[in-house]
Order: sequence, then structure tokens, then C-alpha cells
Amino acid sequence: MRLILLGAPGAGKGTQAKKLVSKYTIPQVSTGDILRAALKDETALGVKAKAYMDKGELVPDEVVIGIIKERLVQEDCKVGFILDGFPRTVNQANALEDTLNKLDQAIDHVLEINVGNEELVDRLTGRRTCKDCGAGYHVSFNPPAKEGTCDKCKGKLYQREDDSEATIVARLKVYSDQTLPLTDYYKSKGRLTAIDGVGSEEEIFSRIDAVVSC
Ligand code: AMP
Repeated sequence: MRLILLGAPGAGKGTQAKKLVSKYTIPQVSTGDILRAALKDETALGVKAKAYMDKGELVPDEVVIGIIKERLVQEDCKVGFILDGFPRTVNQANALEDTLNKLDQAIDHVLEINVGNEELVDRLTGRRTCKDCGAGYHVSFNPPAKEGTCDKCKGKLYQREDDSEATIVARLKVYSDQTLPLTDYYKSKGRLTAIDGVGSEEEIFSRIDAVVSC
């Protein structure tokens, strides 16, 4: 199963990707996670990406396309994958198509998770993540039992640097200017399904699963 999750920052792509990983045992491929790991390790890639990520801008296409080309040929992606946060531009989508054609593979479903802008801002400003196990929380909608501490592993919770209010506004604009054209791109290929992204995590997962399981 090869899936693309489209949706604005805060739409729930990462959360739903993790649920798909546990049900279908295929890897989640998140360019955002790969870039954040590079940033943490201060690799050349991380240093290059940091300036863009801090401002909420997209990292240049050739950089993320390179990451994806390397990632999709790894052994664990042979059984399928869930792309979370890639592609984000039409240029990236074309590069993905070329890469998959060469591997004799195709995308099965593109799921666009839709959430209104006001709710996106509320979700992103309150988002907290465990620095050890990556579990996600929200200060109001899904708070941990003890403030700042992960319920699952007792790790410390942190707020992503790009989840500040100013950067969120920039990221939402980048999404509507550069990523939203992918809706028409995949619609014209007959592969797009719109998913209502408002509701509980389980409700949204069952909407997604109803599409991918048939
Ligand atoms: P995310 O975790 O998907 O919200 O991504 C965090 C940041 O990483 C974005 O705001 C971009 O700066 C960068 N990024 C992640 N994926 C991509 C991509 N496909 N193209 C360009 N930049 C990306």
C-alpha cells in the first residue's frame, strides 16, 4: 500500500500516519521528521534546512526530492509507505512520479485531510511532543496527566520551534500558495479523496481506513 497524506500543518497527517503504520505495518516517511533529525544532529543537511524551517518556508525542492529518492529505495519501503509532508509542491509531485515509475511502483491513494484555518491555529499553538518517544499532546484538547511530562515514557514534552504563532501564519500561507495546487494535480489523476479532518482521532482514522482498506 502506497499512500500520500496531504493536508495543512496541524491537519493531523502525522497522527493518522502513525495509526496507519500500526494497522498496516508499512513505514511512515515524513520529510519534516527527517529534516528535524538532521537539524538535531547538526548535519550539513540540517544546517541548510534550519533557516527555511525557522521561517516556516519550504526547504528547496532539490533537497527534499533527494531525501525522498534515497528513502524510498530502502528495504522497508518495498512493502509500501505512507508519505507524510511530501510532496508539497507540484515539482516535488512530478519528481515523485518519475522516481516511482523507475521503481515500477504507483501511489494507491492520496488522502487530503481538511481542517479549517481557525482550528489549525488552535491545534498548532497548543501542540506538544515528547522528545524521547515522539508521542503527541495538546495543552487543552489532549493534555498529559502531568504538565510537561509524557504519560507513556515520562520523557520531557517540548513545543516545536516552528509552532510559534508568527511561523504558523507563514506556514499556512505557504500551504495555500504552494501545496494546495496538489489538490487539482491529484484530482485530475483520479486519485484524490477528501477526508473531513474534524472529529476524534479514531473517527478520522475510520474515514481514512474506509478508503484505503477497499
Ligand atoms: P512538517 O513537520 O511536515 O510540518 O515540516 C516542517 C518543516 O520542514 C516545513 O515547514 C518545511 O520547512 C520543511 N519541510 C518538510 N517537508 C517538506 C517538503 N516536502 N518540502 C519542503 N519543505 C519541507
